Amino acid sequence: MKKIQLHWQILIALVLGVVFGLYFGGYVSYISWMGDLFLRGLRMVIVPLILTSIISGVANIGNAENLGRLGLKTMGYYVMTSIIAILTGLFFVNILKPGVGADLGFSQEVEGIADSGRSLGETLINIVPTNIFDAFSTGSMLSIIFFSVLFGFFITKIKDKPRRIMTDFFNATFDVMMKITMFIIKFTPYGVFGIVALQVSKAPDFGVLVQRMGIYMLTVLLALFVHFVISLPLLTKFIGKVNPVKHFRAVTTPLLTAFSTSSSSATLPLTMTAVEKNDGVSNKITSFTLPLGATINMDGTALYECVAAIFIAQAYGVDLTFFQQIIVVITALLASIGAAGIPMAGMVMITVILSAVGLPLEGIGLILSVDRILDMFRTATNVWSDSCGAVIIAKSEGEKLKV
Ligand code: ASP
Repeated sequence: MKKIQLHWQILIALVLGVVFGLYFGGYVSYISWMGDLFLRGLRMVIVPLILTSIISGVANIGNAENLGRLGLKTMGYYVMTSIIAILTGLFFVNILKPGVGADLGFSQEVEGIADSGRSLGETLINIVPTNIFDAFSTGSMLSIIFFSVLFGFFITKIKDKPRRIMTDFFNATFDVMMKITMFIIKFTPYGVFGIVALQVSKAPDFGVLVQRMGIYMLTVLLALFVHFVISLPLLTKFIGKVNPVKHFRAVTTPLLTAFSTSSSSATLPLTMTAVEKNDGVSNKITSFTLPLGATINMDGTALYECVAAIFIAQAYGVDLTFFQQIIVVITALLASIGAAGIPMAGMVMITVILSAVGLPLEGIGLILSVDRILDMFRTATNVWSDSCGAVIIAKSEGEKLKV
């Protein structure tokens, strides 16, 4: 029998969860453990995943001898477009407020948020941990990220032999963590079933729940649309002096592949071929920018992380201060850099942002059910941004392109 694809499994689980929650709400404790177990699994991987992903990422970039002008330009483009994407998401989620007033049955008290009420100075100082193991065990994401970046950076500064050993070690550990994460992701349908059934049975008004989820999806899609159709083409046109429509035609195949596979990494060979053959970018530029882009430049993911985290805060009735929203922006950027180019990596990363601003992890329960659908759109946006970056950088290096 042909295996049903993960996104169909999740969709079926979603429907079954809703039916169970609506009609068998009294028995929900028999199945809600599946959701708990799934969330525990995600929690288990998050710290080692972030740690190894950032360390190996930073150590590898430092290794590439390319980290000269081209590297700086590329990184500059990646950070800039990701921030534009996040701000677009922030704008729409604050205007449309998909979570506000939605009584989603979240009964849990939000305690952690209290300590995010600290002053800016205090929070910044606390990024430097006094005890890194304490930071690991309490899941203080900003401190863990800070430590990982430092660690990765200084790996590149040690002697050749130990540097290679350390880089290989962290690359390998990261691969193992990825495998464990993929293994846990396979259980998403069960998690969705358990969580959705529980939430639906608790939700005072199912109609409101559906409506809110609809507005949430709309917010993500609208913001992605603006970034895809307006921001990136404008950058391509004015900074790259490239016709965005022609460039879009050149990369339709990778974009469709990204959409259907939800994986920028799996799409990478197609992106490279299209940008080289159809846009006329040299292999020197594509072989540096595109693989790097597929792993760290994820505009769609960054935007999604920001909208999702603020949606969850809104649903919990937590009013994030301006400063807390800045923390969301920064962690969304880091989370998108840390996310791997595989399906649903972005979902795992939301836990980083939730921990950073002190929101309960259970909040991802609901968005989990629609994550896979939104993943298709954000992955296409990720690949579109990578390809725009490649042509812009090629142009800035004086290359003559076909578009
Ligand atoms: N699926 C995305 C990608 O491969 C990552 C994510 O889950 O947001 O680009």
